[in-house]
Amino acid sequence: MTERLGGEVTSIKFYTGKYSNIDENGLLSESIFGPIHDFRCRCGKLNIESIDGGKVCDRCGVLCGPSDLRLRTFGKITLVFPVIKSTKRKYFKKIVGSQHKHLLDPKKADALAATSRYLAVTHTADTLKVVNTMNFVQGWFVVPIRITGLYSFILSLKFVAEVLGLDIAKELFEKKYIIDVVKILPPDIRPVVRDPKKRSELRYVEINKHYISLINQNNQNKPMKDIVRQKESDWFDKIRYNLNNEIVDEIVDVAIPEYDAATARCQYYVDKIYESIFEGISGKTGLIRSSILGKTIEFSARSVIVIDPSLESYKIKVSKKILYRLWFPYFLYYLSKFKDYEFYDIFDIHTQERNFEDNKEIFDEFLNWFCQPESDEKNIDDEFEMSSVKSLIRRRKIEQEMLEDAFD
Ligand SMILES: [Zn+2]
Repeated sequence: MTERLGGEVTSIKFYTGKYSNIDENGLLSESIFGPIHDFRCRCGKLNIESIDGGKVCDRCGVLCGPSDLRLRTFGKITLVFPVIKSTKRKYFKKIVGSQHKHLLDPKKADALAATSRYLAVTHTADTLKVVNTMNFVQGWFVVPIRITGLYSFILSLKFVAEVLGLDIAKELFEKKYIIDVVKILPPDIRPVVRDPKKRSELRYVEINKHYISLINQNNQNKPMKDIVRQKESDWFDKIRYNLNNEIVDEIVDVAIPEYDAATARCQYYVDKIYESIFEGISGKTGLIRSSILGKTIEFSARSVIVIDPSLESYKIKVSKKILYRLWFPYFLYYLSKFKDYEFYDIFDIHTQERNFEDNKEIFDEFLNWFCQPESDEKNIDDEFEMSSVKSLIRRRKIEQEMLEDAFD
């Protein structure tokens, strides 16, 4: 059996059969995403790390490896009809122009067939544009394929890339602005679980639903695959022949609107997949802010700002309660350095007793220490006469350095 890790997902089922085995072609497959149990293949034939580690079982096709593979191994769906990568739509908007912008919207696919439009490229091969007519325009070459939807649009780009051999279109395919492979997230970051109340039902994060829809749609397209490729090469041959013999004709085929519709459906699901991923990582509830950045509001406080004419313009007045929050790290540092608190006490204060009232007295002590230097240290630097927070912090720093020097 060949290595399937990172391979193609083709089934729309998570489980198969009445014993609820994982479908090995589905979105939870062990042979595609890695074993569920550490160093144990699906059937259990390979189960000893030191002997079997790294081998693929010849019976079940599952790699004998760590289970965290399921946290970082991507699967894929290879599409019969390529689509526009959802993150690169902006680029295609430029080509399509505002007049034909519906071309890129898979939900508007049905309304497209009525108007005629074609892809044009400048003779200098540096600009692509969708135009209304096939009529000759000075300086432009018009691809004689009527664009009735996403498929025919991408087909026209393919013509410019493959037949005309122009880089401006070629790079759209090479740089994967147009994709025919959609990656599938590792299963452990898009969990599927049984409903605790209704064991026969599954609960899963939304993105799984979109993968299933896309696999389903793509499976329906699969029987067309060979026909599509054959037709494409026939059409390109015909256009070549027409060009060489100066015959003005456009490609019309009843199959094209059908392919347009199939491509639009794939595009719709691919867009949904990208949307789900963006929702998962961005915003307040997204992965980055909730899990990676940690607490962004660790030492902050919230209050209403009011004016106080008795203060100088560069000054603010803050309540001790708020200052306790804002200067919490300094306070903890003071406790450990000058009050000889043990680290576990500090940990307790930090995690359990964050209430100001609990530490009111010692915080006052800290503030006194912070704001009023010892009398014999007064002459550290005249520059520090003005007791701004910044100068106090710098003064404390110098004091501490002196103290440390004294210990050495
Ligand atoms: Zn096995």
